[in-house]
Amino acid sequence: MVEASRDVVFDGVTKRYDDGTVAVHTLDLTVDAGEFLVLLGPSGCGKSTTLRMLAGLEEVTAGEIRIGGARVNDLPPGARGLGMVFQSYALYPHMTVADNLSFGLRMARRGERLAAAEINERVDEAVDMLGLATELVKKPRDLSGGQRQRVAIGRALVRRPKVLLMDEPLSNLDAKLRGQMRIELRRLHERHGTTTIYVTHDQVEAMTLADRIAVLDGGRLQQHASPLTAYHEPANAFVASFLGTPPMNLIDGVAGNGRFVAGELEFPLPVHLAHANGPCTYGIRPEEVAVVQDGASAEVVGVERLGGESVYHLQVAGHSIKALWRRQDLAAPNIDLAVDSAVIFPASSES
Ligand code: ADP
Repeated sequence: MVEASRDVVFDGVTKRYDDGTVAVHTLDLTVDAGEFLVLLGPSGCGKSTTLRMLAGLEEVTAGEIRIGGARVNDLPPGARGLGMVFQSYALYPHMTVADNLSFGLRMARRGERLAAAEINERVDEAVDMLGLATELVKKPRDLSGGQRQRVAIGRALVRRPKVLLMDEPLSNLDAKLRGQMRIELRRLHERHGTTTIYVTHDQVEAMTLADRIAVLDGGRLQQHASPLTAYHEPANAFVASFLGTPPMNLIDGVAGNGRFVAGELEFPLPVHLAHANGPCTYGIRPEEVAVVQDGASAEVVGVERLGGESVYHLQVAGHSIKALWRRQDLAAPNIDLAVDSAVIFPASSES
């Protein structure tokens, strides 16, 4: 067990680039020791800038960054005790896997350099953890994309960083390998327990890897929560629509007297939302859209069949709604809904 102390703190951190772009606005964020935090958001939301400020590759315009309680704003990158893995692995092409892994340690300044036995021990441990034992004498060009990525991770881990930073490390891999590497990265994290901050725009990566997610949009933190909390209790419409495939359906309307009205569409609010009053947005996950007896009539305007489940594009009283259903979710599961079928909306539960 790792002590639940605060390992990395962004305290009111702002980044304004020279051209005036404010990439990060007064960010307050804490990462606990041993935690896997994912910075998630669309391109341009400020993820990389946040990571680069922590790494010391970008100056902080305002606010303070602390690692292990100590202010690091003015420390050079090399003195921050961080390990970094980027999208491009930047392995040394002419060196073997073994040499790539040990190079950084061997090249450390005199006085900071480890004894050869210690270097070997760390490399052996990384090789074992990453399953690279049979690749040690190979050059990077003879490795698969996933193996190269593992070497890049190993090279960061042998330095025993206080915090491991990863910026879109899987985006150069094909979909299948990305899926495998997600599982591997998570397992690896459980073994080495290094505090990790991971940048991605891929919500599936975020959901599967993170202990907690920090969702950013326009340089502002939208929500900082566990993946399932962010999924089930999104802080706002942006988070609701960013997590989940297909994303949450959002319907603008008015709540009152325990009911929700959006134009022609009207239905009772679930008990925990029955007190809602006034203009609001009702969110419902596609998998929560249910076929009920006394709901509104919906027309199926498109179907995406994914194999085990299908995404139904519905028109309900002028609103476009997506439903994710398996056959057994349907009232008459032996019927395969086709375009122009009529079903009944909405769900009994919501979000
Ligand atoms: P992300 O990693 O989420 O894609 P970035 O942190 O790279 O986003 O960028 C955040 C914002 O800052 C974007 O609007 C981007 O155009 C801008 N930006 C990034 N780097 C610079 C720079 N060196 N100079 C000016 N603007 C920049």
